[in-house]
Amino acid sequence: MKVEVNDIQPEGLTVSFTDGAAAPGDLGPQVEAITEPPRAELRLERLDELVTAQGSYAAGLVLSCSRCLGPMPFSLEGEVDWSFRPLPGEAPDEQHLAGEEMDLSFYRDGVIDLAQALRDELGLALPMAPLCRTDCPGLCPVCGKPLQEGRACCASDNVDPRWAKLAQLKKE
Ligand SMILES: [Zn+2]
Ligand SMILES: [Zn+2]
Repeated sequence: MKVEVNDIQPEGLTVSFTDGAAAPGDLGPQVEAITEPPRAELRLERLDELVTAQGSYAAGLVLSCSRCLGPMPFSLEGEVDWSFRPLPGEAPDEQHLAGEEMDLSFYRDGVIDLAQALRDELGLALPMAPLCRTDCPGLCPVCGKPLQEGRACCASDNVDPRWAKLAQLKKE
């Protein structure tokens, strides 16, 4: 979804779009699949070169658990409040904007890529190290298969001697 800045009239512009072309890797390495493509409904307003976009977004994803690597459904929704300015250099009178505004993005050649802005937003909103559950036991260090709660895997018959020592210390 791209919008020409010149198409934004003084009364503003409402756009809604679904980014069906987004690939999991566009959002982040922890994204395994997209079940509901990212979508957004935005209100755009323009003041000279400055364009603001406010609205909401949602997406349905499958992430991989950072411990057991298992798939975990993850739905995401939130609000955005973006500001866009022309890339520095395209507008000679804009010299003092670097780092002043957190949610400031740039547009090039008078076109704002809203789909890309949404992908970036989703990437930042996702957990860096997702867990399928907070006590996910992870993978068996011996055979590499996901551990299951209450079930013995290779390691449990064969307790690491360092842990055995620690258990002994705790008893004393
Ligand atoms: Zn897990
Ligand atoms: Zn095992």
